[in-house]
Amino acid sequence: MQTFVLGAGLAGLSCAEALVRAGQSVTVLEKESAVGGMARSFKLEPYCVDLGPHRFHTNSTTVDAQLQTWLRGDLLLRQRLSRILLRGRFFDYPLNPQNVLTSLPPSLLLRAFSDWAMARGSERLRHREHDNFESWVVAHFGRTLYDIFFGPYTEKAWGIPGAHISADWARQRIGHRGLWDVLKQALRPVAAGRPRSLTTEFYYPRRGGIGAITQAAREAVVAGGGCVLTDSCVRALELRRDSGGPGHRVARIRLDGGRTLALDAGAQVVSTLALPALARALRPLPPTPVLSSAGQLRYVAILFIYLEVDQARVSPDHWIYLPEAHLRTHRISEIKNFSDASSPGPKTALCCEITCRVGDATWRLGLDQAARLAEMDLVRAGLVQAGSTRGLALRRLARAYPIYDLEYRGHLECVRAGLAQVTNLHTTGRQGLFRYNNMDHSIAMGQQVARGLVSGAAQGGERAAAAVASEEVFFG
Ligand SMILES: Cc1cc2nc3c(=O)[nH]c(=O)nc-3n(C[C@H](O)[C@H](O)[C@H](O)COP(=O)(O)OP(=O)(O)OC[C@H]3O[C@@H](n4cnc5c(N)ncnc54)[C@H](O)[C@@H]3O)c2cc1C
Repeated sequence: MQTFVLGAGLAGLSCAEALVRAGQSVTVLEKESAVGGMARSFKLEPYCVDLGPHRFHTNSTTVDAQLQTWLRGDLLLRQRLSRILLRGRFFDYPLNPQNVLTSLPPSLLLRAFSDWAMARGSERLRHREHDNFESWVVAHFGRTLYDIFFGPYTEKAWGIPGAHISADWARQRIGHRGLWDVLKQALRPVAAGRPRSLTTEFYYPRRGGIGAITQAAREAVVAGGGCVLTDSCVRALELRRDSGGPGHRVARIRLDGGRTLALDAGAQVVSTLALPALARALRPLPPTPVLSSAGQLRYVAILFIYLEVDQARVSPDHWIYLPEAHLRTHRISEIKNFSDASSPGPKTALCCEITCRVGDATWRLGLDQAARLAEMDLVRAGLVQAGSTRGLALRRLARAYPIYDLEYRGHLECVRAGLAQVTNLHTTGRQGLFRYNNMDHSIAMGQQVARGLVSGAAQGGERAAAAVASEEVFFG
């Protein structure tokens, strides 16, 4: 069977590799000149940096085994460290109760506890379903902790008020039932031989940055007889009526530059493209409600500002969250702390992230302006000296985070129902499912769709892919 996979990120390449392993004919089409998608790396001499910081961790033994095979074990196992810098103090991330108890002033702690007790009391009297992030967190942690820890960073990173963000986000990122559960968990003794925790260790390729994973995946696809075409941007999917039913099938794929690929009668298409882009690429276009819902699926964009700093190291952290509103940067990361090989020499390099919307004033900043702005934030945060940094490069990512606003579920269902009318088109991965996920999830999502195609149960494969990371609580 012939399969075209759209997009050579982790989901697309994992799917392609599983298909070639099953003896199928696969062509991967990638618009960029290199594979990797969001999990790509690039050289900024002498550094090798990622598109924002990436730590690999997984609960899945299948995904773990896949990673070990691709990288032939050439992986570093790192102790994870990320913190929140707030009011001049560092707090562990995910929040650690001992650390919070010892770092907040007693008066604030007292207020936090009384707020939380009041919120719990009122919940007991009158249980309510919380549909938005703010009310969910306030009900579970109290107003004071929301205002200090949960609200500012989330609202800064998403660019919308917490009351406009779906409670799905709180359930996925926080997961605990509330402050009481966090405290109980912290007080529980650590069992001997307890398995490695997602929150304590992660893998990182010894060389080549996080992008070494997709490079290895690409090699595996090619070694298995598959074809990976970069600089191949998919512009349109031409449909024809499905002779066997009421739906349509993809008959031809049109690429940038006028190239077209004709599909065999039984050929399949797996797309890891963003759903709005995919819906708009169909010819004929899908019905207006589907297009309109696709247009309502929104994203946070990120401007990545890479700086070199005239000092050996800024902090021991892989990344530091900066929730305070007076700083434009919301997170910084230091590549040296991921791998020495990625940061040779006496200086260090930082990646400063600012969330924005495509086309806004932040998105349009040039390197000099952006580097000045980032340095100002770092100086105010007490992390570097004024005049000690040099702008290295900028990168922009338009669809960095899917926005789980209060309406996204309805729009997503409408788009997925519309796309389901195209019987040989299957969507997967972070963009194809509009799912805030991690790298291991994208690998599993790609593998699930491949499994479905190989076993002749493509819809089952798509459902299994959509179920990945839907219940799990995880941190980036
Ligand atoms: C800033 C940041 C930090 C992150 N940190 C972590 C982390 O620490 N740990 C972790 O596990 N995960 C992390 N992630 C998430 C991780 O990067 C993603 O889950 C994963 O890389 C998504 O892979 P994917 O293949 O599903 O999607 P993508 O990587 O988006 O792949 C889609 C591919 O399709 C291609 N494409 C798009 N349009 C077209 C077209 N028209 N024609 C052809 N090709 C096209 C794109 O170029 C891309 O290569 C982070 C994400 C971000 C944004």
